[in-house]
Amino acid sequence: MRKNIVAGNWKMNKTLEEGKTLASEIVNMVADEVQDDTITILHPPFVHLSSIYHLVKDVPNVFLGAQNCNENASGAYTGEVSVDMLKSVGTDYVILGHSERREYFSESNELLAKKVNIVLENGLTPIFCCGESLEIREDGTFIDFVSGQLTESLFHLSPEEFSKIVIAYEPIWAIGTGVTASSDQAQEMHAALRNHLASKYGTSIADETTILYGGSCKPSNAQELFANPDVDGGLIGGASLKSRDFVDIVKSF
Ligand code: PEP
Repeated sequence: MRKNIVAGNWKMNKTLEEGKTLASEIVNMVADEVQDDTITILHPPFVHLSSIYHLVKDVPNVFLGAQNCNENASGAYTGEVSVDMLKSVGTDYVILGHSERREYFSESNELLAKKVNIVLENGLTPIFCCGESLEIREDGTFIDFVSGQLTESLFHLSPEEFSKIVIAYEPIWAIGTGVTASSDQAQEMHAALRNHLASKYGTSIADETTILYGGSCKPSNAQELFANPDVDGGLIGGASLKSRDFVDIVKSF
């Protein structure tokens, strides 16, 4: 079902104590200030998940997410984390295919299809990231490129499986750069992706799919971005590390 979601990707930031302080501040502010049914998701580093779960578990509409997982169920994969492990510490959502994973860890659309499968098999929700580089934006092929990422990693799913996916459109040129996609640029891409989903799964599934925007989203631009008919919230990097900024974004619908 289509939902309003704001997800905070902490990336490789915060010690355990810092993370617990940030999460406590966020859950207190959300409990006091957020009256609607917006879903807030915190994605701390793996090692903090268990501790942070205890801070969010009793707060309505606040959930725990991971930033990645391994594509295998278990076994000799030193240093990796399985979906089963994530589930066992209270994780509900998993970010997959963030552009930093694609670039620094060579994650391909094919590998991401496997990760999507194992996350769904375990009953967790993938937040599938897609987005184009500045070069692709400037050569004008950005809609085809991002649509292709969805086709290659998601279109093997049955309609029932697909309906559990959350998509995050994150133009790489906007991530961590301070340059945000304009409201029109975000809406154009989100509408195009929804059309692409409709061509495969039909309009009712496409209309029900939650599509988030990510890339230098902050309190000053969230309201304008989220007001677009096809933008259902945000995946937030830098601004998710400051409780006041993050909760102000959560309140931007
Ligand atoms: C991200 O990395 O997912 C992201 C959106 O980062 P930022 O908000 O810092 O651009």
